[in-house]
Amino acid sequence: MLHRPLTEIKGVGEKTAALFAKVGVTDIASLLHYYPRTFSVFEEVTSADRVTDGRTVSVNCIVTGNPSVRHVRGKSIVTARCGDESGNLSLIWFNAPWLRSGLKPGRRYVFRGLAKKKGNAFTLQQPAMFTPEEYASLAGSMQPVYPLTKGLTNAVVMKSIRKALDLNCYTEETLPEEILSAEGFTGIREALFGIHFPKNEGDYLAARNRLAFEEFYDFIRKLRALKEENDLAPNAFPCIETADTARLIEALPYRLTAAQHRVWEEIKTDLEGAHQMNRLVQGDVGSGKTIVAFLSLLMTAANGYQGAIMAPTAVLAAQHFENFRALSERHGLPVRPVLLTGSMSAKDRREALAGIADGAYNVIVGTHALFQEGVAYRRLALVITDEQHRFGVRQRDALQEKAKIAADDADSRSRTIAERHAPHILSMSATPIPRTLAIILYGDLHVSLLDEAPAKRLPVKNAVVNTAYREKARQLIVKEVRAGHQAYVICPMIEPGEMEGLTNVTEYAEELREILPAEIRIGVLHGQMKAKEKDRVMEEFAAHLTDVLVSTTVVEVGVDVPNATVMMIEDAQRFGLAQLHQLRGRVGRGEAQSYCIFTDTSPEAERGEINERLAVMKESNDGFKIAEEDLKTRGPGELFGLRQSGALAFRIADIYRDADLLTRAAAWADRTE
Ligand code: ADP
Ligand code: MG
Repeated sequence: MLHRPLTEIKGVGEKTAALFAKVGVTDIASLLHYYPRTFSVFEEVTSADRVTDGRTVSVNCIVTGNPSVRHVRGKSIVTARCGDESGNLSLIWFNAPWLRSGLKPGRRYVFRGLAKKKGNAFTLQQPAMFTPEEYASLAGSMQPVYPLTKGLTNAVVMKSIRKALDLNCYTEETLPEEILSAEGFTGIREALFGIHFPKNEGDYLAARNRLAFEEFYDFIRKLRALKEENDLAPNAFPCIETADTARLIEALPYRLTAAQHRVWEEIKTDLEGAHQMNRLVQGDVGSGKTIVAFLSLLMTAANGYQGAIMAPTAVLAAQHFENFRALSERHGLPVRPVLLTGSMSAKDRREALAGIADGAYNVIVGTHALFQEGVAYRRLALVITDEQHRFGVRQRDALQEKAKIAADDADSRSRTIAERHAPHILSMSATPIPRTLAIILYGDLHVSLLDEAPAKRLPVKNAVVNTAYREKARQLIVKEVRAGHQAYVICPMIEPGEMEGLTNVTEYAEELREILPAEIRIGVLHGQMKAKEKDRVMEEFAAHLTDVLVSTTVVEVGVDVPNATVMMIEDAQRFGLAQLHQLRGRVGRGEAQSYCIFTDTSPEAERGEINERLAVMKESNDGFKIAEEDLKTRGPGELFGLRQSGALAFRIADIYRDADLLTRAAAWADRTE
């Protein structure tokens, strides 16, 4: 009933519908769930002398004198003055020449706009105008502000949603009555009104709570159904253990940890078993996930199948590829790896695709390019996603689906999912979210924990410092480099001036080249470099041809250079805790003592709360503990860490802010099964 075309709404024609499609609104249902980004509240009117700089204000004033019009570079600028008993204000509008005659001197209006101070006087910019009566009826109300696209105005979205609500085609309740009454949630009808046109904040929060709950509830139930379905799927690629894996484990320069052994046994049992594998390996940074992934790929390759591993960045994919190639050459393993990313030359790509299609390669390493159009596999038995959390929970089933289709030959499309040759799925993640939430959000997977750091690892030593300490930090870098080690310096920006006051890799590297002794070799890495260039810089650092790598967060996930012992993060207050933990995870990967320096460059006044967050980093090296702290310290509506990378994004729910709703939704999903 809800999947009715937008054009059924009065006033929405093909053209408007096409604009809506651009923001993902394709029918009435999706329009009703197109939530406001924020609200603008029509505040009470203030007097002219109570206006504050940089604030949107409403004043009830009389226009004094005639408005004037100027033209600057083809644009008209209307200025006027107004005032009340307490003082005067200037008004300014761009490109609104009709105002010259529309503004009547001596008449009273409510002007609402952004106040800017110039000298001792205030100007309201582009103020909206109301009659005092009009404004009185609006004051205190919340006006929704929607995400827009070019051509689609807020007024059109508002009007369309109002009309859609009037169609009354959404009244059928979507949550069980039992939940509604026990939780005290509002019904779907009130919720939809409240989310778009709340009478007050309480109204909005009630609507939001209910809709966020519902989003979690639906998601969890879908995961459970998925798990049930997956658990029945037959093992289309049964494996038997060959001598290769045991031989490799024997020959490694280190002993696997007990946790690695246990997890590897669990995977092996899956691959040999009766059903398709759907497993998540969760382990903190540096716990040794890569070798477990490689063992799994080796097992499928030794059984005559293909396996693929997908990494979130090309830098990480290239590193895995080099690593796997070296391992298979050194140990004479039946692994023939190939790299497939989006930035390959046409010739390399053609060669890679041909080799994948005819089975010349049996381990395919890449980015999301692995599942793009035109990639045909031959007996793809295993799909691994590394740093799975970077791909987002909600993308997970889409990805599996793609993997299934990719594994299919064309004429099997008509078969049901269960009959298709679904590959085994293995996800690797440092999952920087609290364990309690992880259990719910990954409810469709079997979870293996890598809860043990390799032996001989010393915990990273942490320091939170201000800029006065930079000199000392640089001395530490020099000392470590002279002892044969390497260092990372992370800056948030690439070039000067991108964001005022923040350090950038370009200038920072120049500066280091001047300050540090000449024998120290410095590399520069950032996301906007060409792929080949990035690979070269990364390889040089890995091969110890450079000593210090000045980089943006492109090295955040997965990069493994065990010889690096210093991580210095500039403007550390800019990053979320999860991200800082990942960055720090780039050191402490070998046996030597490592150091992580968090440089806080925030102004003194803002320190308090920032210090609290960075103190968490200083006190703990445990990713799960940091995630718990993150959950506690995060205020409503803050968007640090995961949300920044777009992972775990729900439409309205937020796993941090709404952790409590998530737990309750999970409990209800248990009860109503
Ligand atoms: P992550 O879990 O972060 O992906 P990696 O798999 O990259 O960690 O491993 C980090 C480093 O530890 C690598 O250099 C790897 O060779 C090494 N490593 C892995 N397992 C062990 C082990 N059992 N003992 C010693 N070093 C190990
Ligand atoms: Mg890794």
